[in-house]
Amino acid sequence: MATKNCPHCGAEIDSEAQRCYVCKEWLSDENIPEADKPQEFLPTLLFAYFLGAFGIHRFYTGNIPIGIAQLLTLGGCGIWAYIDFILICFNKFRDGEGRHLSKYNANVGISLFVVSLIPFVIIIFSIILMTMLLTAVSLK
Ligand SMILES: [Zn+2]
Repeated sequence: MATKNCPHCGAEIDSEAQRCYVCKEWLSDENIPEADKPQEFLPTLLFAYFLGAFGIHRFYTGNIPIGIAQLLTLGGCGIWAYIDFILICFNKFRDGEGRHLSKYNANVGISLFVVSLIPFVIIIFSIILMTMLLTAVSLK
């Protein structure tokens, strides 16, 4: 019997299998029945990016308790929401039923992750520049 490895958990499964019997993940988005489909990657990513502090991406993916917790803490002061955003970018995010999001696109995820780093780079660069300037002024 031909076998292949599950891309999600690495278990050895029948090469004809459409769903991993170990981790229960579907092996390709096309085979998932409509009723069992998790939410799509791109809307979840955009919700997390623009409205992450209000937990909207958690409500959207059916994880209501965490959504409420994030709403009340403003996404854990943004840190929790940003961690969720990174998890979504790299397809590590799970919905309320423990499933990966459907239609994951690595190019979009990694690109948006890099874009999200730009403000940090600017802030760190500004701090270094300010420190250098202040040092130069005080040495005069
Ligand atoms: Zn698996």
